[in-house]
Amino acid sequence: MNDQQLLRYSRHILLQEIGIEGQEKLIGAHALVIGAGGLGSPAALFLAASGVGTLTLCDNDTVDLTNLQRQILHRTASIGMNKVDSARAALAEINPEVQVNNLKERVESARLHELVAQADVVLDCSDNFATRYALNRACVQLRKPLVSGAAIRFSGQVTVFDFRQEHSPCYHCLFPENTENEDTRCAEMGVFAPLVGIIGSLQAAEALKLLLGIGTSLCGKLLIMDALHSGLRTIKLSRDANCTVCRS
Ligand SMILES: [Zn+2]
Repeated sequence: MNDQQLLRYSRHILLQEIGIEGQEKLIGAHALVIGAGGLGSPAALFLAASGVGTLTLCDNDTVDLTNLQRQILHRTASIGMNKVDSARAALAEINPEVQVNNLKERVESARLHELVAQADVVLDCSDNFATRYALNRACVQLRKPLVSGAAIRFSGQVTVFDFRQEHSPCYHCLFPENTENEDTRCAEMGVFAPLVGIIGSLQAAEALKLLLGIGTSLCGKLLIMDALHSGLRTIKLSRDANCTVCRS
């Protein structure tokens, strides 16, 4: 690290758990963020500000006026732009040292497999079950840690599926694909603005800890937030021995 980097990351370097060695790990790391919306915005902002060297952002959507209430990567002037282009511009202003790969696509399984293979950690900031299942499958197959987040109305949740660990559950263990999981869209349901900020920031925190190999992750635990009544609880998650996705 040069002097500028030592200054930029000094508040991380001062942390005993991170230090110069940890910060260098982050600079050498690659995170894949699927979705540049409500959750992807704070997640990508914190990963970039923290100096994660390479960020791959995927989203096929364009910035709309209704997004700006909560998707803090985007600006009023960005309406109509591809979200990933708007995101890359915002991230470059915060930390020009980060390499941002912006992919304007809704990624399908084969492509996801390729992208997951290149990443050290994966953040699911998507808004639909098809993407969540495909991403989970790719992470199970490639044994990549997956940080999953979701938020609707006043309710949010975060968990980590760490497939480097033998007993980690997967997304399919938690929400089996054959049950009726209908996509509840923000367009119909509404979502409380700061909630996506909290959940996306928690996803960034879990991803950084996984990259650094410090602390205790949310693997095997689902953190549930009730933003309306200020409730926060964690429930235990177990692997489904009959899961058709992660059963080896
Ligand atoms: Zn499973």
